[in-house]
Amino acid sequence: MARIVDISREPDYMAQALDVLAKGECIAMPTETVYGLAGDATNGLAVARIFEMKGRPRFNPLIAHVGSLSMARRHGVFGEIAEKLATAFWPGPLTLVVAKKPDGAIHDLATAGLATIALRMPRGPAREIIAEFDRPLAAPSANRSGRVSPTTARHVAEEFADTDLMILDNGPCRIGLESTIVKVLPDSLVLLRPGAITDSELGAVTDLPVRRPDAMNGIEAPGMLASHYAPNAKMRLNVTECPQGAGLIAFGDGKECERQAAKDVVNLSDAGDLKEAAANLYRHMKALDARGFDLICVEPIPTTGIGAAINDRLTRAAAPRE
Ligand code: AMP
Ligand code: MG
Repeated sequence: MARIVDISREPDYMAQALDVLAKGECIAMPTETVYGLAGDATNGLAVARIFEMKGRPRFNPLIAHVGSLSMARRHGVFGEIAEKLATAFWPGPLTLVVAKKPDGAIHDLATAGLATIALRMPRGPAREIIAEFDRPLAAPSANRSGRVSPTTARHVAEEFADTDLMILDNGPCRIGLESTIVKVLPDSLVLLRPGAITDSELGAVTDLPVRRPDAMNGIEAPGMLASHYAPNAKMRLNVTECPQGAGLIAFGDGKECERQAAKDVVNLSDAGDLKEAAANLYRHMKALDARGFDLICVEPIPTTGIGAAINDRLTRAAAPRE
């Protein structure tokens, strides 16, 4: 049985977490994006356990989470641009892909043998744990590979019910979508995954163009497989008339879609607020899925701001599965 530890009620949570991590085992920890399955990024066995627990393909590299900028600099090459981005957005929902330091201690398994490394400084208790541990933590989302990411401790417990995983509970994640991932090059930025930090914010801070990845570059065009974040139900996007008996994920006041025939409607944001919608997305997908719908329809969601990231996740959730 997975064990949920409420960090607001259990003052001892830090010592417990450090103890588990020091043994090379994993914990689930809250971050502002989604809950992560965290293990010592410098310990090959700990990293292997993460891949195994998630059933994640080994070619899909993990993000190393750091507790400070100086910790990040020990493992990645931080030039002027990376420094600017880290100063502007850390701690926060931005992952920087930079050249890996040859003498850095992050295990090759975590970076899938690449010459680059993905680094992020999360906000809140996760950062404090990493700073105390004094070593980076590899922490992909705490779900089985390919499925919807967890935004509450209970979601994690459902994914890993048959394990003895310790899950630190800090309530629902504030942002609710995985971090923006950007590869830092000397003359441009490559957006590998959209998230809460948008293209225009990245451009404004660096004065550099923000490009999309080349389709031919394999893992660089995110290890992010076409099908990902997938519920059991089939997903249909940009629906303007919901078919009879389907579950409907609505957005806003209903002017865009005929909702009458839907069997069950959940609204990402009645007020049409994209940030609120992002925070609710996975919770609502999971809720409709748990009700056993064969088909979940989704109303059109604007692509502005964090809307680009919402649409990215929905497109992957709706993609044909292998
Ligand atoms: P997550 O599933 O949230 O842990 O996502 C991690 C994602 O980060 C992977 O799917 C990759 O797309 C990306 N990533 C991690 N390390 C690298 C890297 N060195 N180069 C490019 N992308 C990376
Ligand atoms: Mg994930």
